[in-house]
Amino acid sequence: MTADAATLEQLLTSIDGRGYGSYKQLRGSYDLGSCRLVVDHVQVDPFAPPSLMRLIVGRTAAGIPEDLLDDRHGRVATTDFLARAVAADLRSVEGVSVGAPQQEVLERTSVALTDDAVEARITVQLPASGRRVRGRSALRLLTESLPQIAEETLVHARLDAEALRAHVDLHRDQEALRDQLEGHRLVAFVGDGSILPRRSGDSDLPLPEGAVPFHSPESLRVGFDLPSGRHVSGMGVPEGVTVIVGGGYHGKSTLLRALERGVYPHLAGDGRDWVITRGDAAAVRAVTGVDISPFISGLPSGIDTRSFSTADASGSTSQAAALVEAIDAGASALLIDEDTSATNFMIRDERMRALIPAEREPITPFVERVRPLLTERGVSTVLVAGGSGAFFDVADHVIALDEYVPHDVTDQAHELAGTPSPQPDATVFAAPRSRVPADGTLNPPGKKKPATARGRGAIRFGHEHIDLSAVSQLVDAAQTQAIACALDRLADEQGKNVPGAPNGPGAQSGPGAPGDPGAAGEPSGVRAPDGLGEPGPAPRTRRTLGAEITALFARLDAEGLDVLSPYRGHPGHLARPRPLEVHAAVNRYRGLRLDDQTTGGHR
Ligand code: ADP
Ligand code: MG
Repeated sequence: MTADAATLEQLLTSIDGRGYGSYKQLRGSYDLGSCRLVVDHVQVDPFAPPSLMRLIVGRTAAGIPEDLLDDRHGRVATTDFLARAVAADLRSVEGVSVGAPQQEVLERTSVALTDDAVEARITVQLPASGRRVRGRSALRLLTESLPQIAEETLVHARLDAEALRAHVDLHRDQEALRDQLEGHRLVAFVGDGSILPRRSGDSDLPLPEGAVPFHSPESLRVGFDLPSGRHVSGMGVPEGVTVIVGGGYHGKSTLLRALERGVYPHLAGDGRDWVITRGDAAAVRAVTGVDISPFISGLPSGIDTRSFSTADASGSTSQAAALVEAIDAGASALLIDEDTSATNFMIRDERMRALIPAEREPITPFVERVRPLLTERGVSTVLVAGGSGAFFDVADHVIALDEYVPHDVTDQAHELAGTPSPQPDATVFAAPRSRVPADGTLNPPGKKKPATARGRGAIRFGHEHIDLSAVSQLVDAAQTQAIACALDRLADEQGKNVPGAPNGPGAQSGPGAPGDPGAAGEPSGVRAPDGLGEPGPAPRTRRTLGAEITALFARLDAEGLDVLSPYRGHPGHLARPRPLEVHAAVNRYRGLRLDDQTTGGHR
C-alpha cells in the first residue's frame, strides 16, 4: 500500500519531539509526486546504522534511452552514472548516502533498474535532537530534499545525456577489449597515452603533473577496433612469462600496479582508461591454509605442506600460499612484484646452491616453477625483477623501463642468459584437489548475525575477523560487504548439503541490519528474510568450494547482485567482487576446515 505525501506529513508532525523509536512508524511506501519513497528499515536509535530507503521513479518517467540498457555492460555503466549523479547531489544533504563509487566502474546495488522503475538505494540518518524525533527536519528531508534529488538525478531529461552516453560507450569498449584479449593471446593491454602513476600512495587519482604518458615499444604494439567505432593502440602483454626490468625508480611497480587494477574498468580521465587486464589475473600476496607443496616440502618441523596453515607464515610460505590459492581459484595470469615478494621465494643464486645442497633447502624458488606453471596449468606470469637476471632464461619477453618508457629487450636478455635452470621432469603442479568445507564450518556455533564488512579490509564472521587487508585487488568496501554476504549464501548452500542440519538454510538470515558498509547487525524484528532461506530439495552430492563459488556467480549473472542480500527491498550497498577475492576470504577464515573429496571432479 502506498500512502500519500499528506499522510507522511501528518505522521512526522504527530511524532515530532517524541522518543526516537516513534520513527519506526515510517516504514512503508509514499507517493511523493516526482518519486515514490520506500522506507525499508528504520534505525532504532540515532547512533545505530542508518535507516534504509529507496527513491523510485517509473521507467517511463525516467526516460532513459533503451539502447543504453540492452546489454549488461550498458546497464552497469548507466546505473554507475546515475549513482555518481545521486552521490554528487547528496553532498549537500547531511546524513544521506548512496555509497560512493570510486575510480572503478563496478556493478553495484546503489542504483538499480527493475522492469518498471529506476531505484536509488540510500541510507538516511533520521534527524534527532538528543534521543527525540526532529519531525520538522525529517519532513523537509523526506518530502522536499529527497524528491528533488530523485528528479534531478534519475530523470534522463535532467541529466547530461551526452556524458551518460560517453560513459556507457567507454565501458562497453573497455569490456569488449577485455573480451578480445584471450583471442589475441594477451594477458593485458596498456594503451598509448595512459597515465599510470597515482597522486600519492593513498590516492587513486592520477598524478596531476609531470607524468610521462605510456608509449608502447614497436614490437609489442597491438591495435583494437571497438564497438563505438573507436580504435586504440598500445602495448600487448603476451601470454607466457614476461619480465619487467629496469633501474630503481623507473616505474616498474607503477606499471605492475596498473595491471593489477586493470582487472576493473576505470572512469574516463583516470589515466588507466585503457589499461585492461584479463579479469582473472591475480596479484600474489600472503595467505595461509592451502597446498604449498609444489614450492615447499620437508619443513624441519615435519609439517604437512599439502594443507599448510600458520598464522605467522614467513614471507616465502605466505607467498607460495597466495600463489597456489590463485591458481586453484582459476587465475590464468599472475602478477608479481619484487617489492612485495620474498627473495628466497623468487630465486636462489649459484653460490647459495653450491653452499647449501638442494635437499637441505625446503624452498624451490619460483624461477624453477614459472615454466611448469605455464606448461602444466597454462598460467602466465608478469613479473617485476629489477635486481636479478635469473629470470632471463625462463622469460618469453623482457621489457625494460627506462625513465618510465618501456623497451623490448628480449633479444639482449636472451643473449645474456646462461644455461637454462634445470626444469623438473615430473609434473610439479598436481591437479587441484577437490576440497569440500567440512560440515558446519561455514555455520560456526554462536554465529547469529549476518557476516558484515568492517571497511575494505576485514569481515566479521561470527566471532571471527577475516583479515583481507593484504588482498590488494579488493578495491571497494562495498565489494567487501558483498563478499560478507557471499559467505553467508555459501553457508546456506552448505546447510542444504547436510541432511537435517540444525544450522541449515535460513539459520543465518536472522534479524539484523543488512549490509551497509560499517553497519553493525542490529535487530529490527520487522524485515523479513526474502525466502532465500527456504528449505532446499533433497540433499545433493557435496560440491567443492570452487563449484559452490562458481554456482553463486552464475546466479549473480542471471539474477543480479541483489540476490546476495537476505532481505527484500534495500539490499545495502554492495559492489560486485571477483570470484578470486571470495576464494581469498574463505581461505582466510580461520574456522574453515576442508575435507578432500576423492570422488571430486566438480572443479
Ligand atoms: P620502480 O618500481 O621501478 O622502482 P616505481 O614504479 O615505484 O619505480 O616509480 C617510482 C616513482 O616514479 C613513483 O613515485 C611513481 O609515482 C613515479 N612514476 C612512475 N611512473 C611514472 C610516469 N610514467 N611518469 C612520472 N612519474 C612516474
Ligand atoms: Mg618497485
